[in-house]
Amino acid sequence: MKKLEDYVVSIPDFPEEGIIFRDVTSILEDAKALHMAIDQLQEKIEDIDFDIVIGPESRGFIFGMPVAYNLNKAFVPVRKKGKLPCETASMTYELEYGVAEIEIHKRSIKPGDRVVIVDDLMATGGTIEAIIKLIEGLGGTVVKCVFLMELMGLNGRQKLEGYEVESIIQYP
Ligand code: IMP
Repeated sequence: MKKLEDYVVSIPDFPEEGIIFRDVTSILEDAKALHMAIDQLQEKIEDIDFDIVIGPESRGFIFGMPVAYNLNKAFVPVRKKGKLPCETASMTYELEYGVAEIEIHKRSIKPGDRVVIVDDLMATGGTIEAIIKLIEGLGGTVVKCVFLMELMGLNGRQKLEGYEVESIIQYP
C-alpha cells in the first residue's frame, strides 16, 4: 500500500538552487492521499483537550480547516500582513533573507483558549515561533503543533523547545 510520503513530489532547485521543495499539491490532487493526510493529522490531536485550530496562510488553511471541522473545533487563520479587516495583533520575524509579518484577529483568541497549530511543513520553525508569540500575547495556550512534513536538518524543534511538536513525514 502506498504511504503518504509516496505521494509527495520533490522538486530540486526550487524556488532557488540547492533547495529541494516538497510539493503538497500532489497530495491534494489524489483523493486517497488527501484523506490519509487529514486523517493522520487528526489522529495526532483528537484525544487532546483544545478549543481552536490555528492555520497559517496559506497551506495551513488547506490542512487545518478540515481537521477543525471534523473535530468540531473553531478555525482561526493567521494571515500575512494587511489581509485581516478587524483589529489585529501582529508579529515580525526573520526569514533567510529579510523579514515577514503575520497577523491574527485579536478577538479570535481569548485568555485561556487552548489552541493547536496545523501546517503543511516546518522548516526553520520561525513561522511557528512567531505564531506562538502571537497566541500567547493574547492569553492563549499552544497545546500542540502538528505538521504534515518536517525538514529535520533545519532544527525547527530547537526554536520550539518546551512545546509538543509532531510531524507525519520527516525529511533529513
Ligand atoms: P519556517 O518558518 O522556516 O519553518 O517555514 C515554514 C513555511 O515555509 C511553511 O509555512 C511552509 O509552507 C513553507 N515551506 C518551506 N519549505 C517548503 C517546502 O519544501 N515545501 C512546502 N513549503 C515549504
